[in-house]
Amino acid sequence: MADLIIENLTIKYGGVTAVENLSINVPSGEFLTLLGPSGCGKSTTLFAVAGLNHATSGIIRVGDRILFNGDSKAAVPPERRNIGLVFQSYALWPHKTVADNLAFPLILRKMGKSERDERIKEALGLVEMLPYAERYPFELSGGQQQRVALARALVYRPPLLLLDEPLSNLDAKLRERARVWLRELQERLKVTTVYVTHDQSEALAVSDRIAVMSMGRMRQLGSPREIYETP
Ligand code: ADP
Ligand code: ADP
Repeated sequence: MADLIIENLTIKYGGVTAVENLSINVPSGEFLTLLGPSGCGKSTTLFAVAGLNHATSGIIRVGDRILFNGDSKAAVPPERRNIGLVFQSYALWPHKTVADNLAFPLILRKMGKSERDERIKEALGLVEMLPYAERYPFELSGGQQQRVALARALVYRPPLLLLDEPLSNLDAKLRERARVWLRELQERLKVTTVYVTHDQSEALAVSDRIAVMSMGRMRQLGSPREIYETP
């Protein structure tokens, strides 16, 4: 697994500064949450780490790989960053089975069938969805689809996992259970995780540390206890 270093990251959309001079160091294996109100720059930060938008300046490094050094022409393209992503809408391919949803990205990477099958079995096993391998997404509950989306992110064995409001489409009861489950899985895999939410109770429940953002800047960084106790 690997640490994530973000140094002086600034991201502008035309005249709007979405993220300003943000620096965060996420040690290997940590579960860090970006917490803040809608529009404060959480997703923009996550997208920059994934390489899905153009950062304006700063440095992004994962382990010993520099993904972005301020020059967007030299930035590592998203498909070569080896990062697992789960976003708010699970976006499983509706016409593919669960197993084929996981296989597709591996086929794109030209992985052979036997290795592919092994990886898919491992990832579905981790989220306890192996019995559903031949089902289609519409046959699954919201919670189950969520787990498949997570398995699809993990099937690469990425050193870094980025989760953008992954539980927001679940009802309150399921969300509560999913928090526990997500945290257990992350601890088992020891994968470095950056989690985005606007929900303070969710952040307090799942995180090793919380970075509180507002208006594109980081205002506070600390353990859930430290964040909770600060007025
Ligand atoms: P959050 O994830 O915290 O809700 P975002 O990172 O999505 O916030 O947005 C941060 C700011 O950047 C907001 O002011 C938003 O309107 C702006 N923004 C985000 N994406 C774009 C875009 N593609 N084009 C222009 N402005 C954007
Ligand atoms: P439902 O059919 O209502 O979606 P699940 O099949 O998701 O319920 O529940 C099965 C097990 O998976 C439960 O023990 C629960 O702790 C766990 N679980 C529930 N929701 C989720 C979720 N969103 N993501 C991962 N695991 C979950």
